[in-house]
Amino acid sequence: MKDCLFCKIVKKEIPCHNIYEDKNNLAFLDIQPHAQGHTVVISKTHAPSITELEDQKLQSLIIAVKKAMKLIKEKLSPTGFTIGINHGKISGQTVDHLHIHILPRYEGDGGGNVHSIIKNPGDKSVEEVAELFK
Ligand code: 5GP
Ligand code: ZN
Repeated sequence: MKDCLFCKIVKKEIPCHNIYEDKNNLAFLDIQPHAQGHTVVISKTHAPSITELEDQKLQSLIIAVKKAMKLIKEKLSPTGFTIGINHGKISGQTVDHLHIHILPRYEGDGGGNVHSIIKNPGDKSVEEVAELFK
C-alpha cells in the first residue's frame, strides 16, 4: 500500500534494523524501544489488522514471531516476553499495518503484565456476557 509506513519498510524505501526475514514476513527493531530488543513483526502483505489478513499469512506471521523470539533469546537473554498487538486506534495502534510487538522482559524491568493495560470490566457479569455467545 502506497502510503503505509511499514509497506515502505518492506519495499526498503525506509531503512530498518531487520533481525529476521522470510518470504512472507519481516521482523525489525522498533525505532522507539520500550525494552532492549523491542521488535515489531509484520507480514509483507498489507492488512490493517488480524481480521483482514488471510489465514495462511497469519499462520506464517505467528511462526515468524516465534523465530524472532528465538533469535532475541539467543542474543539478549531475556527471561521472558510480552507479546502484543495494538488492534485499532482505541488500543493505541498508530500504524495501520498489522504488527506484533515482541517486548523482551528482564528481571526488575518494572513493566506490568497484560492485565495492567486496562481494568474496566463493564456492567455485565461474566455470566451475562457468556449468554450472548449461546
Ligand atoms: P503501534 O502503536 O501502532 O502498535 O506501534 C507502532 C510502532 O512502530 C511504535 O512502537 C513505533 O515506535 C514503531 N515505529 C514507527 N515508525 C517506525 C519506523 O520508521 N521504524 C521503526 N523501526 N519503527 C517504527
Ligand atoms: Zn502496509
